[in-house]
Amino acid sequence: MPVNALEFPRFAGVPTFMRLPHIPDASRLDVALIGIPFDSGTSYRPGPRFGPRNIRVQSAMIRPYNPALDVSPFERLRVADYGDLSVNPLSIEDTYRRITQGLKPVLDADAIPVCVGGDHSILLPILRAIHAKHGPVALVQLDAHNDTWDQYWGSKYSHGTPVRRAIEEGLLAEPFILQVGLRGQLYGPEDMEFGQEHGFGVITAEEFHERGLALVRGKLKAFGKRKTYLSLDIDVVDPAFAPGTGTPQVGGLSSTQILDLVRALRGLSLVGCDLVEVSPPYDSAELTSLLAANLLFEQLCLLALR
Ligand code: MN
Ligand code: MN
Repeated sequence: MPVNALEFPRFAGVPTFMRLPHIPDASRLDVALIGIPFDSGTSYRPGPRFGPRNIRVQSAMIRPYNPALDVSPFERLRVADYGDLSVNPLSIEDTYRRITQGLKPVLDADAIPVCVGGDHSILLPILRAIHAKHGPVALVQLDAHNDTWDQYWGSKYSHGTPVRRAIEEGLLAEPFILQVGLRGQLYGPEDMEFGQEHGFGVITAEEFHERGLALVRGKLKAFGKRKTYLSLDIDVVDPAFAPGTGTPQVGGLSSTQILDLVRALRGLSLVGCDLVEVSPPYDSAELTSLLAANLLFEQLCLLALR
């Protein structure tokens, strides 16, 4: 019987992602679901440090078969809840060291990390670890924001800067960066210049609403079999569907659209994924954590089909 075949969630102790076993030993795994409960990189609403905990609870009703993609990820992959990485809520630099070091044994064992944040600042140390294993990788970023700002209050590290830092550190395979769902006010048109200079593909929320998945599929053709990392900031979804997030922007994707968008990424050679920016204190009726749990399952399906 698959590990995830229970009919109704029953907890004995701390809930795990999708009621999977807690296995902090990557040598036994193909995919490690990893919590990173850090939100000291947030500029506005805090709270994503509670993301892994609440997404675990809301993932309890996930069943093992995905009829939309015709795949049972737990039959194809050895997946477990690896537990949370140790973070330092008072120091982003120390947390970055801990995250990169914490992911090394996972990657050394050839397991694929699927990290659950946490705010988006954790992307940079994740990509440092991914780069140490794989070299520069392509990036698909689903987000309302481009996260290529230079600094906030003089700090180079925050949830608004990780993609710029990753480019500067040579962690990404330029120009294979695709950002989908960008929207909302900017400080000025120059906020888009960094991405333009580095050849990013950008599909704004307005373009997505106008032209849909065909536009995404077209842009993804260039990625081919290139090693790719998927970063999903839950604020790509409209706050009407995902209110529990740090920097909400109106005009985003619906639950249906984000499911379709993630499923459209099947076939990519993914070397890692994350799901970030779920802020349970700002959630309503656990909507955001529930959607996040489902999107995490869809990510596992992508890994099973890659
Ligand atoms: Mn982001
Ligand atoms: Mn965002």
